[in-house]
Amino acid sequence: MHAHPAAPDVWRITTPLPFRPGEVHAYLVRVEEGRWMLVDGGIGTEQAWAALAAGVAEAAGGWGGVALHLVTHMHLDHVGLAARALGAAPAPLAMGALDAERMASAAADPAGEAAYRAGLLRRAGAPAEMVRLVEAAQSDAQGLAPTVAADVPLHGEGGELPGARGWRWIWTPGHTAGHVSLFRPADGVLIAGDAVLPRITPTLGVNRQRADPVGDYVAALDRLAALAPAAILPGHGAPVGPERIRELRAAAEAETEAVAACVEAGPATTWEVVGRRYPGRELATSTRMLALRETRAHLDRLAASGRLELVPGPDGADHFVRSA
Ligand SMILES: [Zn+2]
Repeated sequence: MHAHPAAPDVWRITTPLPFRPGEVHAYLVRVEEGRWMLVDGGIGTEQAWAALAAGVAEAAGGWGGVALHLVTHMHLDHVGLAARALGAAPAPLAMGALDAERMASAAADPAGEAAYRAGLLRRAGAPAEMVRLVEAAQSDAQGLAPTVAADVPLHGEGGELPGARGWRWIWTPGHTAGHVSLFRPADGVLIAGDAVLPRITPTLGVNRQRADPVGDYVAALDRLAALAPAAILPGHGAPVGPERIRELRAAAEAETEAVAACVEAGPATTWEVVGRRYPGRELATSTRMLALRETRAHLDRLAASGRLELVPGPDGADHFVRSA
């Protein structure tokens, strides 16, 4: 069994990931008799493809019924099989406009991407060695998510989803700038992508597209809470209830305070704040990069609200200081 009923006319197809959290869910939604929408897919490995194809065969009788593709966000565990799924089932691909733009510009200018990452690390006060480690991890990930172009870029805060009657899309930025979730008002089913996850909090990170990803995320959670969803189907893990939205909102606010408390101990670069936040912890390169981007997002938020001051250092690193 690869396809599991998750809600009326919604099947969950779980595919393996070569890294934590170990698996990711795609959802196959029957939008009308014989017409299906595929939400996400999995990472671009043969094992993930085999699991996805088996699930599509079980629920929809094969790729022929897939009439719409939707990608919740551009991370490789969600978009990685999109190119291959489009090949198997040529049909429009819908995606948040900001993620579609991000994917296109990353593909068009890989050197610019590497320069952006190096700049982030320099401003974070990271050791030079970290740049090399990050670029090595980046090249390992190459090929796990071939670039796709959105036929239906979703602009705005939400609306009807063309080709999927009864479903609305909702802009849920934070985890990525263009993240979208899907909602069926008739019975309150929410396909959340990584906007709402059980047990873990979605990573948030400083980026070029949005000034305040943490504030964006809190606002997105408020939009989701206002829908009063009855059942939330996440991108990873088991379904959750609407109370999880409140928990995640509180966790995001608490993280801003935890980062502020780290600067109370004295002026610090982002690198040093991460060291204070996770004392004595060995962080793998990818985890440390996520921690740096997320911590920087909280630091920027604190600076924007006037609680911290950003003082550029002579070494190119930004230092954060408690406001007088
Ligand atoms: Zn994910």
